[in-house]
Amino acid sequence: MRYISTRGKAASLSFKEALLVGLASDGGLYVPEAWPKLSFGEMKSFQGKPYAQVAFAVMSPFVGGEIDDIDLRRMIEEAYATFHHPAVTPLVQMGPNDWLLELFHGPTLAFKDVAMQILARLMDHVLSEREERLTIVGATSGDTGGAALEAFKTCDGIDTFFMFPNGKVSDFQRRQMTTIGAENCHAIAIDGSFDDCQSIVKDMFRHQSFASTVRLSAVNSINWGRVMAQVVYYFSAATVLGAPEQSVSFTVPTGNFGDIYAGFVAKQMGLPINRLVIATNENDILARTLATGDHRLGPVKSTITPSMDIQISSNFERLLFDAAGRDHALVRDLMTALRDSRRYRLPDKMLQFIRDSFDADAVSEVETQEEVARIWKETGYLADPHTAIAVKVARDHADPDVPMITLSTAHPAKFSNAVRDATGEAARPPIWGDVPLGSTETVAHLASDRARVEEYILQHARLTQGSVRSFASEGVTS
Ligand SMILES: *Cc1c(COP(=O)(O)O)cnc(C)c1O
Repeated sequence: MRYISTRGKAASLSFKEALLVGLASDGGLYVPEAWPKLSFGEMKSFQGKPYAQVAFAVMSPFVGGEIDDIDLRRMIEEAYATFHHPAVTPLVQMGPNDWLLELFHGPTLAFKDVAMQILARLMDHVLSEREERLTIVGATSGDTGGAALEAFKTCDGIDTFFMFPNGKVSDFQRRQMTTIGAENCHAIAIDGSFDDCQSIVKDMFRHQSFASTVRLSAVNSINWGRVMAQVVYYFSAATVLGAPEQSVSFTVPTGNFGDIYAGFVAKQMGLPINRLVIATNENDILARTLATGDHRLGPVKSTITPSMDIQISSNFERLLFDAAGRDHALVRDLMTALRDSRRYRLPDKMLQFIRDSFDADAVSEVETQEEVARIWKETGYLADPHTAIAVKVARDHADPDVPMITLSTAHPAKFSNAVRDATGEAARPPIWGDVPLGSTETVAHLASDRARVEEYILQHARLTQGSVRSFASEGVTS
């Protein structure tokens, strides 16, 4: 399988190369050159199978034989053995034809674990084959950083740096990132928004001399390996509920568009998905785009669902590529307009293509709180606010004849303040996922400035083989 950039000006890559590179050199995102299809019989065989078996069947066409089947199976087994539920991503019934897909049973209680645990193993495997190492830099609005630092801490060939917007992630999320205690993992608090952090990452990739000195890579949801890993639970959940005979719909709390884009990929592979419903918070750019065709950046609002406080949904570019009939020039034009004038207008055909598969709705702050309270009162289920947003949107888009699967992306303990405000209940983390208060936190505080962050990375990455740095010269905060 070859991977091509959405913008068409970067060389095509093998699976292994796409895995290590992340963002394409032309600023685009890598996508498979063609969508692999799963047959009706293959999908049917997933019914009742362990998650790891479904994962192998869904991922292997994307790997395309570049990794030995035995190694791939072993890495998948190991990755999902870190989850604390035998179904890995269990379904919970909320009502007639109304289901929650719990994606938060991994080590950091976030759905990001599903992708990070396998991605770390795949990357380390490829690097050790090549006797190479690289530096991962990422931006997180909360959950990605913890999941990545946790997954990559045992990767010998990789140094990982994660920037988060200072003061804009929950205390629990910050502690997850700052208490890893591994010399190859670094948390950086940036004075700015998530989008500021993300644009520093993008600028570093454009800064060629820096990028090649540290061998820069990304594990944000732009990395193809993450999207690929997320496709799996669309198949596992749908087949439990009767696919491929029965079609199903999904509602997904959406930020960077990686999670719901994986649903689109599952649909391209043949999974009978009726509707893919985008649920956003007050950062409603995608809901506005679907309603009007006008994609217009606004200021980022801080909400009680910080993992969705995003204006630039990077993975949306991958959908645009298919919506444009895979016309690179059209994607380039739209992305140039977005950069230069902070907006673009979708051509009618593209808008229609998107509307054929997707719906979208936004939920306000007040409605989010009310929904967390309503779910608790009516069902005794404590939902995190991101999940609650999707539950509300799913209700508004329910079709009584089609199972609606709502993705639950975080354990309520990760957002315990918001959950307590809404319900009066304390959401406790499970013992295995707790980060005790008072653990020593190690974090660097930096200005929102690319050059300063690069300098920090150059000081702390183990660039040259054999030179292992001593740990913890960063400032310590409480
Ligand atoms: C990351 C995240 C999301 C958004 O997922 P995207 O792939 O960025 O759209 C939603 N909810 C939670 C809790 C998350 O951590």
